[in-house]
Amino acid sequence: MCGIVGYTGHRQAYPVILKGLKRLEYRGYDSSGVALLHNQNLQVHKKKGKVADLEETLIGKNLEAQIGIGHTRWATHGEPSDRNAHPHLSSGGEIAMIHNGIIENYALIKQELVNKGYSFTSDTDTEVLLNFIEDIKKNNECSLEDAVRIALKRVTGAYCILLIEQSNPDTIIAARKGSPLVIGIGKGEHFLASDASPIIEYTKEVVYVNDYELAIVKPDELILKNLGNEKITPFITKLDMELAAIEKGGYEHFMLKEIFEQPNTIFDCLRGRLDAKEGMIRMSGVDLNIEAINKANRIMIVACGTSWHAGLVAEYIIEELCRIPVEVEYASEFRYRNPIIHPGDIIIAISQSGETADTLVALEKAKEKGAFIFGVVNAVGSSIARISNAGAYTHAGPEIGVASTKAFTGQLAVLMMVALNIAINKGTITQERYKELLVELEAVPEKAQAILKNANELKVIAEKYKDAHDFLFLGRGYNFPIALEGALKLKEISYIHAEGYPAAEMKHGPIALVDENLPVVFIATQDVYHEKIVSNMQEIKARKGKIISIITEGDKTSPTLSDDCFSIPPADEIIAPILSVIPLQLLSYYVGIAKGTDVDKPRNLAKSVTVE
Ligand code: GLU
Repeated sequence: MCGIVGYTGHRQAYPVILKGLKRLEYRGYDSSGVALLHNQNLQVHKKKGKVADLEETLIGKNLEAQIGIGHTRWATHGEPSDRNAHPHLSSGGEIAMIHNGIIENYALIKQELVNKGYSFTSDTDTEVLLNFIEDIKKNNECSLEDAVRIALKRVTGAYCILLIEQSNPDTIIAARKGSPLVIGIGKGEHFLASDASPIIEYTKEVVYVNDYELAIVKPDELILKNLGNEKITPFITKLDMELAAIEKGGYEHFMLKEIFEQPNTIFDCLRGRLDAKEGMIRMSGVDLNIEAINKANRIMIVACGTSWHAGLVAEYIIEELCRIPVEVEYASEFRYRNPIIHPGDIIIAISQSGETADTLVALEKAKEKGAFIFGVVNAVGSSIARISNAGAYTHAGPEIGVASTKAFTGQLAVLMMVALNIAINKGTITQERYKELLVELEAVPEKAQAILKNANELKVIAEKYKDAHDFLFLGRGYNFPIALEGALKLKEISYIHAEGYPAAEMKHGPIALVDENLPVVFIATQDVYHEKIVSNMQEIKARKGKIISIITEGDKTSPTLSDDCFSIPPADEIIAPILSVIPLQLLSYYVGIAKGTDVDKPRNLAKSVTVE
């Protein structure tokens, strides 16, 4: 988590850093801070709260500097507070450092430093690493760069760190392992950040720093080295991203903008890959590896959060269409439980940011055991994209709202295409059914647009139920994971407790919660389970629960049982989850708005979970 920005060059550093921190605030926002260096004067300012709170305290201050670093924090060690905020200053006051990640063996190192007489002003693991670096620098009388290198050989955990020091007026030292770092290359200036969003308005040329690499960054020079002190040639890539994509474009919130972007983002995801007229799908990640995929005895899907729900939908679809057994795993469990992986197993990793720490480590382990990794990632060039053997981008564009929306529907679109592509290659689907599903998938953007036109109906429903203390979301089959996703979205955005359940399973426990105060959201679109889910509605109604149902246009039965209904256009049951989730995204957005929560930055959450 956390956002990191650094600048060295000819501009004033503070405005560049401040703007960058605002762009990165989705990554963490419990406190923020900057360190600026001018004429050997190193000033550090930090503040609990949002970046705007920091900005306010700095109004009127002299912030003159052409080099600086800034941080927006998602606390792991020590409560969110001014003193735990980054940047931290070394004990001698000469080095400032920001850090994204966790130093796992910090307690041991801290004890060693305490024994040497060091004292600490914060509870963070970051300050421990910083003083460790300072101690090494003093003892070895070496440069900061060398001290960082020596220190990093001893630490375990994840980090992206940026350091500046009083005696070095134009140099930022940076290093990463497990947390992202991008360096933007300008004319006589360099920009450093956790992702490209703070950089794109200045330059499109970037270098993605890899794990175990260290960067020495000056206005006119970028040197990359490995931890063995050998130089590495920086690999420069061109950013394929426009500034408008990371701005609100007239919407009140990023989340709303991103929900409304879905007809376009799904279209972009399908474009160039799906051709319903020709009856084909072109996905190089699948096509080039079709032999390995056809031989697979098993597919394991590894993901976290919303991406895990996309994985569950994919499990239903792949098993149905491709007849390959699929297991869906939480990355955080998978990585520690010594899973049985056979060479040739296919692992599908799903992640919006492509930096999710648990997923990343899970993949490294699976790769060691000979699994073939297929990444389904939104952020181009991210760590997961890079360690995958093959993959497909979701092409949803930057997702800034912390609650994932357009990335989820992008994941579903990719996974559906992957399933169809495998099925036709394996011969587990008839040509006729294949073509039918291609036509259905191609129609999704238009149907998504039709759903969004009626968004106001969900606003009215949201107002009506905003004071509920709990919600239940029920679905069957392909829509069961959508029930989980609907519940997760509502929890994230409105802080209302919500549970998702398979509709029939509800009888084995959650039904005890049902009374006249409990809204129950049914995802009851037309499919083979429809009659069964109608019976489940009867069961809720008999116990006076309030029923909100998401139904297919033309359904005559569900409205008679529901207190409130929202209709979506008819779609094949395999494709329907991409559509049925959209009203649930809108419902949680409008409930959040009605309750006055900060929908783009819900409390305690961060978008890119780069810590375990
Ligand atoms: N572990 C550090 C802290 O708690 C950094 C957390 C972050 O990545 O924001 O301060």
